[in-house]
Amino acid sequence: MVRLRFYGGIEGFIGGNQVVLEDDSATLLLDFGLNYRLWSSYFEFIFSEPESLDEVIRVGLAPDLPIIDSIDACIISHAHTDHWRLITILPEGSRILLGECAYRIIDGWSKRVRRRTLLYRTSHLRFDTFRTGSTIRIGEIEVKPISVDHSIPGAYGFQIYTPSGLIAYTGDFRLHGRFKPKIDLCNGLEDRVSLLICEGTNIGRLVEPTSESDVATRASSIVERCRGLVIVDIAPADIDRLNTMIEVAYRAGREVVCSDRIIDTVIDLSPDRSLKVPRIGEDIKPFEEVEDSCTRNPERYMLVTCLYSEREVRRIKPPPGSVYLLSCSEPFEEEREIAFNRLLNWLHTFGVSIYHVHSSGHIYPLDIRRIVERIKPKAVAAIHTEYPDAFRYLLSDLVKVYTFRRGDEHRI
Ligand SMILES: [Zn+2]
Repeated sequence: MVRLRFYGGIEGFIGGNQVVLEDDSATLLLDFGLNYRLWSSYFEFIFSEPESLDEVIRVGLAPDLPIIDSIDACIISHAHTDHWRLITILPEGSRILLGECAYRIIDGWSKRVRRRTLLYRTSHLRFDTFRTGSTIRIGEIEVKPISVDHSIPGAYGFQIYTPSGLIAYTGDFRLHGRFKPKIDLCNGLEDRVSLLICEGTNIGRLVEPTSESDVATRASSIVERCRGLVIVDIAPADIDRLNTMIEVAYRAGREVVCSDRIIDTVIDLSPDRSLKVPRIGEDIKPFEEVEDSCTRNPERYMLVTCLYSEREVRRIKPPPGSVYLLSCSEPFEEEREIAFNRLLNWLHTFGVSIYHVHSSGHIYPLDIRRIVERIKPKAVAAIHTEYPDAFRYLLSDLVKVYTFRRGDEHRI
């Protein structure tokens, strides 16, 4: 008998995925993400952080201590904080399994942050990396990680073979990106899956079904008409989007300048030969190095920044007729919304036109139906969605969809 218990990524929350999977031989944790919305109801980074592990558990950000202590290994799907940040609270020596890229990103982050308080420690953990083709055995459970396309490199879904059935976990993924994995997560799963744990970020939302190549086309048409500075806001580790923007800038005869945070990620990922990581000094330049030239001749540059930062914009003072492309999702939590509005206010004062040119990192609803029609799982677990009921209705003619409350158990 395999038991699954859901602690995060449920009850209408996007992200913060936490699924405990156990049989008599082992207990695994699939992702250990931070639920931002819940976090900001009780805490604030730097200014009001948890005093103890007890506080983190008390407010429902993590399962109870006996469960945390029982975990043999934690498997991370990708390096977005809503999927891994709480590994920092795991006990000394805990085993963390993750892809090479995710490891590089998390390791780079932990070397740069100076704080060593509860949510910043990683040196007490044992990291083991995997790639597509690896097989991880823990007790009688076998996990096969399979690369998937998402808005960060090195994202994985998992095929989990247990004595009582096959479970597939998608992590966060999409079918409309640049990266086409060599092995498809669903390959060979037809009629074999007992439970498909599937993300549904875009279910119930107003979706604009653009692909990564649509982003390139739309961005180009704007950038080519711009006579001032082009500012592009991307998610910090979205290397595919950075490459898209480099192509757009190149076609328009502009150089790409990046803020520190983007340069940091590029440095972290550069050693990975399997990725197309932009070269610093050739494909992109650090903002600090070309700030003066950028200020004097903004029409020659594309500034790529992240996290709605207004810092570089204020320093350059873009001329009227400049453009800002929001090329990531709109802020979905309060702190970020405040930062975004602050940036917009500054852009207004400079006469900058504002566009949203983005393609979601998450699968579109009809593609989820296509996958379910193809692999015909016995059941689906809805995760990472604001609208669990809409998820259920979306597939109601195809398969039974389970939605969960915190701590609910599902047996296979
Ligand atoms: Zn996520």
